Amino acid sequence: MEQQAIAVNEPTDANGLKLTQIPVPSPGAGQLLVKIAATGVNFIETYQRSGIYTVDYPFVPGSEFSGVVEQIGEGVQNFKIGDRVATASGEAGYSQYALVDAALTGKVPDAVDLHVAAALPLQGMTAHYLVHSSYMVHNGDVILTYAGAGGVGLILTQLLKLKGATVITTASTQEKKDLAKAAGADYVVDYDQVAQTVDKVTGGKGVNAVYDGIGKDTFDTSLAALRRRGTLVLFGGASGQVPPFDIQRLNAGGSLTVTRPKLVDFLTSQQEMHWRFGDMVGWVASGKIDVRIGAQYPLTEAAAAHTALESRSTTGKVILLQ
Ligand code: NDP
Repeated sequence: MEQQAIAVNEPTDANGLKLTQIPVPSPGAGQLLVKIAATGVNFIETYQRSGIYTVDYPFVPGSEFSGVVEQIGEGVQNFKIGDRVATASGEAGYSQYALVDAALTGKVPDAVDLHVAAALPLQGMTAHYLVHSSYMVHNGDVILTYAGAGGVGLILTQLLKLKGATVITTASTQEKKDLAKAAGADYVVDYDQVAQTVDKVTGGKGVNAVYDGIGKDTFDTSLAALRRRGTLVLFGGASGQVPPFDIQRLNAGGSLTVTRPKLVDFLTSQQEMHWRFGDMVGWVASGKIDVRIGAQYPLTEAAAAHTALESRSTTGKVILLQ
């Protein structure tokens, strides 16, 4: 049986994302075939599409999706056909049916909408590992982050507030600033106001940690914003990748730490995945955190979704609907 999918055949801009037909795959041992309800659109797919990250062509992007289990591979326990599920670890999710390892799949409770569930595996679990593992946030910390109205940003701010941190963030428009504020950020400023806001809020001491997903344009500001022994968690490059830098800057800045994490290294076991995903769906189901679906596109308009994400015009989560 064939299905619709979106593929790229070479490194390309968003217009190179083309509708194609591919076979519906069969689940191997330990795998699930999921009938997709919504696919999460993430920055990593723009890096893969444009050649910043290496992939094999033709390439169907999409590791994050939610949906319903359609078929079960050999040896899979704990799942049955019809289960509502979501994952950040699927293959070729810009499609209608996709495979995922059962061990890397979470169940979605009835209280959580499947479209919202498509935001939780990648952006939600990223926010989770950032505040619990990359740098462990403590009550009373002052934290700087950016893009407070973004997909990760809106969730990250809410998790930081649950931890008792003071949050300084940025946003480029008034609408985005209002969203970041509503998520609980204490200070929402323009990018060129970051240094003076950090100074004012911390009395010149600097912040405990920076979560920086912007990269090239903000790296220097982020390093300069840290207090002695502060930690810079560089988790993305929405403005471009950070070039090599002189490690002596960490010494000069006050014994600073820089880490460059990625989600897969924080989902190293079924237990770890269940911890992070379970927390996220639980907090959404109980109303502790809110997930904003900022834009949804038909699968066939994946190119428009990429263009919107790269042009800074989105807020919250962007999803594709099958
Ligand atoms: P967002 O929804 O946050 O979108 C990116 C935002 O970054 C924009 O809306 C914009 O907000 C801001 N931005 C600032 N400068 C630029 C620029 N030059 N071009 C584009 N955007 C810019 O995206 P996500 O939440 O999906 O991802 C945020 C970051 O997190 C990305 O870098 C992504 O790669 C990273 N990430 C990393 C993971 C990891 O494990 N390491 C996992 C998931 C995401 P504004 O207009 O307000 O400035």
